[in-house]
Amino acid sequence: MTTPTRRKTGFVYAEQFMWHDTQRYNLLIAPGLTVQPGEHAENEETKRRFRNLVAATTMEDELLRIKARPATEPELLRFHSQKHISTLDALCKSGGGEAGGKTPVGPASFDIARLAVGGVLEAVDAVIGGTVDNAYVLCRPPGHHAERELVTGFCLFANGVLGIEHARAVHGLKRIAVVDYDVHHGNGAESAYYDDPDILTISMHQDNLFPPGRGAVDHSGAGAGAGANLNIPLFPGSGSGAYRAAFDQLVVPALRAFKPEMIFVASGFDAAALDPLGHMMLSSQDYAYMTNSLLGIADEFCAGRLLMTHEGGYSAAYVPYCGLAVLEAMSGHATGVDDPFLGFIENYGGQALQPHQQMAIDRVAAHRASLGG
Ligand SMILES: [Zn+2]
Repeated sequence: MTTPTRRKTGFVYAEQFMWHDTQRYNLLIAPGLTVQPGEHAENEETKRRFRNLVAATTMEDELLRIKARPATEPELLRFHSQKHISTLDALCKSGGGEAGGKTPVGPASFDIARLAVGGVLEAVDAVIGGTVDNAYVLCRPPGHHAERELVTGFCLFANGVLGIEHARAVHGLKRIAVVDYDVHHGNGAESAYYDDPDILTISMHQDNLFPPGRGAVDHSGAGAGAGANLNIPLFPGSGSGAYRAAFDQLVVPALRAFKPEMIFVASGFDAAALDPLGHMMLSSQDYAYMTNSLLGIADEFCAGRLLMTHEGGYSAAYVPYCGLAVLEAMSGHATGVDDPFLGFIENYGGQALQPHQQMAIDRVAAHRASLGG
């Protein structure tokens, strides 16, 4: 075994991220006469337990803390409309409620969402400025479903897109790639850059899960951006073999051909085996595999520049171990903590690449070949 490369990894976390109140929904359904109030899927517990596992291990001393700050209105306006910002602000000031697309908010959510965006922007500055090699932003609310004027899928502002716009506007970066391994489609970045040849957007997701009708293979960009949007829809039940094959056969070659100056990752852990919203079978080691693969590309083309924003992942029990495995890969620091679920998940039937899963990958490759890419 080769010794992992040690890297300076920045970490953004604010306790206030945990105070974004998603109300007493039943998973993602608003309460009613036949719907008992419960917990919204996107509540603070999963992320807080990830942060707590970091604190309980030697990872705590390894990470370089980056402090979040509220994003300014001009920074939000780099992608969102004034109407989007004002509507959300007014809803929160009125006490909160359903902001759209199964996304309830509380009185403080607007300010907390601004803090999450600002955390991403500070991480961008740190990575490009060289005070860290890479960074992980453990923020709430998540961002990868938010579009210019659309709140949906528990996302208020497009954290990652706003980070990319910051990297372009302030630091002059030209070519940036987004890799979204959240189990849901990365519609936010796709909508932002569909006709933009300078931003390569890649989304691996469960086929037609959320948003409905998005993420199809032939949605591959338009105009000058034709070919610069790569959707990889995978069958429910895909596990280690399918994801690693899709990464090796599609994601890595696309990144190599594109030669990005920086890689953004929408880091959702809802393709993990124990997730209540996704139907995939990944383990912490599969997330480490994908991270190591991305770090290799970042070393080759981007001087190591890689930034992850935390997105979905709804298993409070398991997300912390997936997150820790990613941080271990990013920093090259092994905590020695064993994933207590690993043996159980690796033993699932169908973890090896299945013929129908390879067919799904081949279909994407054939579409790319037809575009000349
Ligand atoms: Zn998700």
